[in-house]
This record gives sequence, structure tokens and C-alpha cells, in this order.
Amino acid sequence: MPISDRFAAAVAGRVTEARQRIESARARGGWPHPVVLVAVTKMHGPDAVAAAFGAGVRDVGENRVQEAETKMADVALSDVPVRWHLIGHLQRNKAKAALAFDVVHSLDSDRLASALDTAAGDAGRSLDVLVQVNVSGESQKGGVALADLPAFSDRLHGHGHLRVLGAMTMAPYEASERVLRTVFAGARSARETLHASGHPATLLSMGMSGDYEIAVEEGATHVRLGTTLFGERV
Ligand SMILES: *Cc1c(COP(=O)(O)O)cnc(C)c1O
Repeated sequence: MPISDRFAAAVAGRVTEARQRIESARARGGWPHPVVLVAVTKMHGPDAVAAAFGAGVRDVGENRVQEAETKMADVALSDVPVRWHLIGHLQRNKAKAALAFDVVHSLDSDRLASALDTAAGDAGRSLDVLVQVNVSGESQKGGVALADLPAFSDRLHGHGHLRVLGAMTMAPYEASERVLRTVFAGARSARETLHASGHPATLLSMGMSGDYEIAVEEGATHVRLGTTLFGERV
């Protein structure tokens, strides 16, 4: 088998396993909603996107605009209609580039909200976003603090071109199960806050390779998986 076929077969096997684990966790949590597997292809080539697509994945996550643009433009991917998710921190001056994505998971400030709203308005369209929340309070993590969320959520109504579809969070790395559950439950409450303030917030993006089963048990609608599908990033 050529290396590329071997890689595709390995990814397909890992996607199948992840889907089974997600489904079991969803059932344990008793959630009725489907869970979307977002394959995080950052630092992997277009072949990773193609392999995931071949395995039935239709949602791809990237955390840098420029790297994603290169992959989106790759001719080999021209027949690979995936939804692109921007999951990493976005600088205001790159707001326009965010329009190339189907969903931005990392809305984390008023200034970015303004920039995205302006970019979408200039393009005569709306943009789907999730509010990234920092539940754990780790200073090196981005996101809106839960205490600031009600006011932030109200201010987002001033940005008519943004559709606030839910919340996103990142849990602390290698945290205990108890801490993970607290963080994920906090993100769930963040989605309720957004919904209660009048946004169409139903989505909950949480869970990475190390913690996605717990995230799904706690109600994730989107998990973002890189390493467990494609191996370590080098
Ligand atoms: C890299 C990244 C992921 C995927 O991480 P893995 O541990 O490799 O699954 C998920 N979410 C965000 C925001 C990321 O930057």
C-alpha cells in the first residue's frame, strides 16, 4: 500500500473508534442531540483533510487563518466540501479572513466582535460564531470569564451581523475528571446564559483528544479532535 493509502486507512480506523466512543459517551450522558466530530488538521497537510473526508468527516478545524487558507486553496481539496471551523484565537486585523470559515469558535472580546461584525456587514452577510469562555480562570487561556458573560452577551446584540450559536471552551490540560466536569458544566451554563439573553445559542464546542468523552457526557455538541485522529503534531 502506498503511504498515503496507509495514512488514509489509519485515519479511517481512528475516526471509527472516536465515533464509537462519542456515541457511548452521548448515551451515558443521556443526551438526545447528535455530536459533530470536528477533525483538527492544524500542522497537518491537505492529506489529513482528504483522509478525514474519506472517513466521512464533514467538519474540519484549524486554529490559524493563514494555514487554513493554504489548505482551502489546495487543488487536491477542491472536491472536498467540508465545513471549516476556526477554533484558534483570531486577531482583529484578520477579521475579514474569518469570513472564509463556516463557524468561528473563538469570539473572545468586544473588539473582535466589532471587527467581525463590520467584516460580515461589509460583505453583506452574517457570520456564525461561538463565544469562547474561560471557565477555569487560567490566565494563559483566552475567553470571556463567566462573570463577564451576561453583560458581554447583551452587548453582542449590538452586532447584528453575528449569529451567536453557542459557547466554546478549552479545559485545563491533564486536569482531573472532577475539574473537567466542572469546566464543561460551566461552559454548558454559559450557553444557557447566551440563550437566555436572546441568542440562538444551542451549540457547545468542547472536548479535545484527551478529554472528549467526558465533554460529550457533559453535553458537548461539537468535539475538536486532532492528535487522536492524526497522531502527534511535530
Ligand atoms: C489543537 C486544538 C484542538 C485539538 O487538540 P488535540 O488535543 O490534538 O485533539 C482542539 N481545540 C483547539 C482550540 C485547538 O487549538
